[in-house]
Amino acid sequence: MRITLRETADKLKSAEKILLTAHINPDGDAIGSTLAMLQILRAMGKNVSAYIDDKIPKNFLTMPCVEEIQRPAEGEKISADLLVVLDTSIDRTGKVIDITDAPILNIDHHVTNKGENIYLYDEPTAAATCEIIFKLCEELGANITKEIAICLYSGLATDTGFFNYSNTKPATFRAAASLVECGVQPNLIAEKFEERTFRELKVMSAALQTTKLFFGGKVVGMFIDEELFKQTDTTEGFIDLIRVIDSVDVAFVLTCREKNLCRVSMRSKTVNVAEIANKLGGGGHIRAAGCTIQKSFFEAKNILVHAIGQYMIETEKLTSKEFLLNQEISLADFEI
Ligand code: 5GP
Ligand code: MN
Repeated sequence: MRITLRETADKLKSAEKILLTAHINPDGDAIGSTLAMLQILRAMGKNVSAYIDDKIPKNFLTMPCVEEIQRPAEGEKISADLLVVLDTSIDRTGKVIDITDAPILNIDHHVTNKGENIYLYDEPTAAATCEIIFKLCEELGANITKEIAICLYSGLATDTGFFNYSNTKPATFRAAASLVECGVQPNLIAEKFEERTFRELKVMSAALQTTKLFFGGKVVGMFIDEELFKQTDTTEGFIDLIRVIDSVDVAFVLTCREKNLCRVSMRSKTVNVAEIANKLGGGGHIRAAGCTIQKSFFEAKNILVHAIGQYMIETEKLTSKEFLLNQEISLADFEI
């Protein structure tokens, strides 16, 4: 059931014991919105705890209160008045969805969220869930401390590519400006999030070598096999290296995490990649989406490239001549 922001605030006000969660494979917006809510609700006198069923990437480990995020134990059960699911539909919360029978309040900005049998506040035009939480602070009459501001700014910054992507709206800048007035230092956040070890840079460089162009150059893919994946803590930012290619509309990174478990990240300039991801069982935003393909690396590659090509033909982003031009051009084929 879809509800308004006011009703969302009312649900939070009337609950005493609240559990918070966000999506697995957590990013700055998932973690930032969880930690901001934790602090906001605690200041309102609520009994709050936060669970994310995944490892927190090391670049986010300096965020205020991050040490309070717990991973649910196998079979753990907790009674609560409300489970708040942030920055995702309920299917990407891992084991957290099973730890309580409490009613679910879902706050999200993904266009693909269907939100059945729960209370859903979904605002796809918001750049980040943190932008929604910023507005919610006003509804709740919450004071934004410097620590809360850091968490909210982190979500805005990561989901907008530091205010570069097409989801960046005047409201995003206004929220960011207010958060800077609350004490956020944007340079410190950028430095922390962009930080890489030398080893990670080497993995990035190896990953770049796997890059291939498809369909006459409108699609680019990066292929990270299990062995390469084992050498890095994160593939965050890898897709940004390839989406900049001039001829490219759709960029993807295919990562084989383990046998028959491949993760896909997609970005686009004009194509609706949320629809492609949706067809493959995933979701996301129009210009940034992802999915999991439970097949071998080779099969996953064929399924993905075909799905992208097919969708681009259907939406007239590719001519059938370009579709047939599906010979792969590898970075190594270019003379430097
Ligand atoms: P990323 O490429 O950064 O992992 O994800 C891009 C966007 O797509 C994010 O907003 C993320 O939440 C969403 N997304 C990525 N993978 C999935 C998935 O498997 N299912 C759904 N529903 N959304 C996804
Ligand atoms: Mn988000």
